[in-house]
Amino acid sequence: EKEWPRPDGCRVITIANQKGGVGKTTTSVNLAASLAMHGAQVLVVDLDPQGNASTALGVEHHADVPSIYEVLIEDLPVGDIVVPAPEIPNLHCAPANLNLAGAEIELVSKVARESRLRRSLDSYDTDKFDYVLIDCPPSLGLLTVNALVGGDELLIPIQCEYYALEGLGQLIRTVDLVKAHLNPGLNVSTILLTMYDARTRLAAQVAEDVRNHFGDVVLNTVIPRSVRVSEAPSYGQSVITYDPGSSGALAYSEAASEMAHRGAPE
Ligand code: ADP
Ligand code: MG
Repeated sequence: EKEWPRPDGCRVITIANQKGGVGKTTTSVNLAASLAMHGAQVLVVDLDPQGNASTALGVEHHADVPSIYEVLIEDLPVGDIVVPAPEIPNLHCAPANLNLAGAEIELVSKVARESRLRRSLDSYDTDKFDYVLIDCPPSLGLLTVNALVGGDELLIPIQCEYYALEGLGQLIRTVDLVKAHLNPGLNVSTILLTMYDARTRLAAQVAEDVRNHFGDVVLNTVIPRSVRVSEAPSYGQSVITYDPGSSGALAYSEAASEMAHRGAPE
């Protein structure tokens, strides 16, 4: 594969949208796989108790595997839980499991509860990675807040359906609060339109509304709805390796290329 330009320093990109099922995990895993296959060193931090990103990367994450829960709650160094994803060189994962469900509550009484992921990443040599992608759970609770404080960039996947824009206001308000109080450098750098169904006028309308509203941060590439994309995780694979020629794989690869070539925001 051709090498893409690599960033000067590590780009820490949080992938968030409090709606479930909009493609956060699919986007995290497939962008990570694409970037890794084009020469970048990539770490996926799984911050969802469902552990879907860990599953899709083929990484073990049963209850006894040291996971992001121990990092957030027990101060285990993040380096102690990072494991290589078996399918793709250069790709790593900090796994999550159901223990993390308890963290949402346990964090409430912790010191610096919103900044625990940031602190952990700061004391880790993230510069050995070109990209750290943080996959968020479907809520705006403390786990997602930790991801917003821990990241430099925010990528919002938006599903091209009727209620797509509903709830985005709440996400943006949360981002503004985080910027005002906890992470002034956070930048909404990227919006990706997912699960696009070219047969419907609605999808085209939603895409147009999102582009009118958010402008240049919306990637030109749109991810089509594709059965291969939804099949890949059950084989512990990204669609990039599961079916490289499929429309979903090509689209995710194109989206990742756009991100790499745009580079980090100023
Ligand atoms: P989230 O992490 O936001 O909850 P997921 O990435 O898990 O969303 O996606 C929700 C569901 O939709 C999953 O079953 C996933 O496999 C499927 N899916 C995601 N993107 C696509 C796509 N482009 N085409 C078809 N199915 C998709
Ligand atoms: Mg998910």
